[in-house]
Amino acid sequence: MNKAIYYGIRDVRVEDVPEPEIGPGQVKIAIKYCGICGSDLHEYLHGPFPNTVFGHEACGTITAVGAGVNGFSVGERVCSVFPGAFAQAIVCPQQQLLKIPDSMSWERAALLEPLAGAAYAIERGNIQPSDTVFIAGAGPVGLMVLLGLKAMGVQTIYMTDMVAQRRRKAEELGAALVWDPLETKTPAKIKTLTNGRGVDIAVEAVGVEASLKDCLASTRQRGTVVVQGIFTQRAMVHMFGFVVRETTMIGTNAINPALAHKWLSDGAIAPERIVTDMVPLADIVSNGFEALAGPDKRAIKILIHN
Ligand SMILES: [Zn+2]
Repeated sequence: MNKAIYYGIRDVRVEDVPEPEIGPGQVKIAIKYCGICGSDLHEYLHGPFPNTVFGHEACGTITAVGAGVNGFSVGERVCSVFPGAFAQAIVCPQQQLLKIPDSMSWERAALLEPLAGAAYAIERGNIQPSDTVFIAGAGPVGLMVLLGLKAMGVQTIYMTDMVAQRRRKAEELGAALVWDPLETKTPAKIKTLTNGRGVDIAVEAVGVEASLKDCLASTRQRGTVVVQGIFTQRAMVHMFGFVVRETTMIGTNAINPALAHKWLSDGAIAPERIVTDMVPLADIVSNGFEALAGPDKRAIKILIHN
């Protein structure tokens, strides 16, 4: 079978490898889609991520069930959050699987894992439906947070992004107001929008100093900054405002699949709307990673398919 194997920075090769062998407690899945995550792109461009996660946003059909597995059977549709799924098939522990209802499309199911990251961040930040929220960044991470907040009934969500296409997408998906942080000074804009108070919660979804600063400076007294962006460089932040405003800052790097699954099943949000490209496994480098790494920033979320 074919599988994309990570060799190192900008070195991913699709190779013919033996089908994985199934063991006790494991389930074998024929992969339908696997999304490219920001962490996959980070590995591709900058080197391995802690607890490597290469190819973990997958969905597919069960083709075999190992000894001792209960609750799953051949032919069922599932999401898997287990790495190694830029492949035609994977074998994974049953704990890493969630069933997909018949009514849910494959495209929506493929977005479960990234939405689960947003679900975790939202829960970790203790965001409430009545909160006013600012999200710095309208890439896949920021847009998933936006959709998660929408699913839980948050009304007022402001967003920024430098890329026009991403700003348009954020508007389309229900952000109250979206602007270019290079053209508009975000803290001043947020002050005006919140009658001088600042937002209750800011979510950093880019991983750069400028947007972290915007988050810290846009949050109200005793507000919270949730950091989900993947930083590749140091950030110099002024700690004076952080102390004076008694800000809480939280890093997040986990998933809550159960909450994301609930949101998807409720059907109030359609995260598949952030998908810009469907790319065959054979083209994962040229039309997948390089499309995301390139300068034109047209692609938002790419699904790899078999
Ligand atoms: Zn992911």
